[in-house]
Amino acid sequence: MVADLIDAPTATWKTDVLKSLFNTVHVRKICAIPLAKSELSDELVWRYDGSGKYTVKSGYQLLRLAYSNPLSGPVNSVVDYSRFYSDLWSVVLPAKVKVAMWKICNNYLPTFVNMQLRKLNVDNCCLFCKSAAESVEHIMRD
Ligand SMILES: [Zn+2]
Repeated sequence: MVADLIDAPTATWKTDVLKSLFNTVHVRKICAIPLAKSELSDELVWRYDGSGKYTVKSGYQLLRLAYSNPLSGPVNSVVDYSRFYSDLWSVVLPAKVKVAMWKICNNYLPTFVNMQLRKLNVDNCCLFCKSAAESVEHIMRD
């Protein structure tokens, strides 16, 4: 445990223990991590909001950013596609077409790959070409 590497009374790293476990480069990096001099209790902090407090609104905004990359599903990038979706919803098309587009962009189609991800026992091979897995990208792009 990390606590075994820290001398609690002096709030310093146990360098002798670190040197026995890690190489000099890692020991130097570990020792560069500052340790708290006073005992503070752990607490949960929501780092995606300036207030530090989680709200449903801030969670929703984070999810919107994290899951809004069309055709690639959840990603770590924070590219904002809100303009894309605003434009999509403002286009004059039947609602079912817009919803289908939204499902395609968010990888919500019941493809064989998605069914396997949801633990369904299906073969993910494309029924048309039989040469690739049936994913949204394969159906719509490839
Ligand atoms: Zn195919």
